[in-house]
Amino acid sequence: MSELLEISREEIIDGKWERVLNFFRSRSLWMLYYCTGCGAIELPPTMTSRFDMERFGIGPMATPRQADMLLVTGYVSVKTLKRIIRTYEQMPEPKWIVGFGSCPIDGGIYWNSYATINHLEKYIPIDMSIGGCMPRPQAIIDGFTKLMKLIDSGEAVGYKKYRLNHDWYKRNQREVLERTEPVLGSRPAQAGVSGVTGGPGAAGSGNRSAKGAFAGDIEAVELGDGCGAVRSGEGRHD
Ligand code: SF4
Repeated sequence: MSELLEISREEIIDGKWERVLNFFRSRSLWMLYYCTGCGAIELPPTMTSRFDMERFGIGPMATPRQADMLLVTGYVSVKTLKRIIRTYEQMPEPKWIVGFGSCPIDGGIYWNSYATINHLEKYIPIDMSIGGCMPRPQAIIDGFTKLMKLIDSGEAVGYKKYRLNHDWYKRNQREVLERTEPVLGSRPAQAGVSGVTGGPGAAGSGNRSAKGAFAGDIEAVELGDGCGAVRSGEGRHD
C-alpha cells in the first residue's frame, strides 16, 4: 500500500499504470476479421474446440468501434483497401493489425496483379504478419501469442506509427485509390494481337519499379518508437 502511495501522477499516467493496462489489453483482445482472401477459412478451426483461441482471451467483435485487433486474412484488392482503411480508422486506439499469409506481406501469388496490393504495410501499419500460404491454426495461435507479448511489453505501436507518419500513409493511399492512369500502360497494339494494350510484361515491370520505390521510401519514414511488422512464420504449409 505504501509503495502505491509513492507512485507519482506522472508514473501512473506514463509508466506503471500503462504497464498494468498493457497486461490486461494483451489478454482481452476483441478481433474484427476482415475476411479477404483464403486465410479466413483457417479461423473457424482456430476459434473452435481443438485450438480454442478464447482461452487466450481472444474473441470476435462485430463492429470496429469496439474492436482491438483487425485481421486481414489474405490478399487485398485495390477496392478492398479503401474499406480496410476506413475500418481501421474507425477503431479506437490502442489497436493492432494482423496480416495472414504472404499476400499482405508482398502480394504473394498475386505479386504482379494490377488489381492487388503489394506491401500492405505501406498503406496501414501491420503489427504482426503470419507467414504461410495459408497459415495453419498452429501458426495463427503462434502469431497471436507473439502479438500478446508485444502488447504486454508496449512494443506493438503500429497505431502510433500511423499517427506519426499520417502524411506518408495518406500519400501512399492516394497514389493507389485516386489513380486515374491506366495501370497496364498504353503500348501500341502488337502485330496480330488486335486491341491489346500492355500485358503481363507491362504489369510486371510496373510492380517491380513500385517495389524499388517502396524500398527507398520506407527508409525515410520516421518509425516512432520501435515499430514495423513482426513476422511469425512457424507452422506454415510448404
Ligand atoms: S497467402 Fe495464399 S492462402 Fe493467403 S490469401 Fe494469398 S494465396 Fe490465399
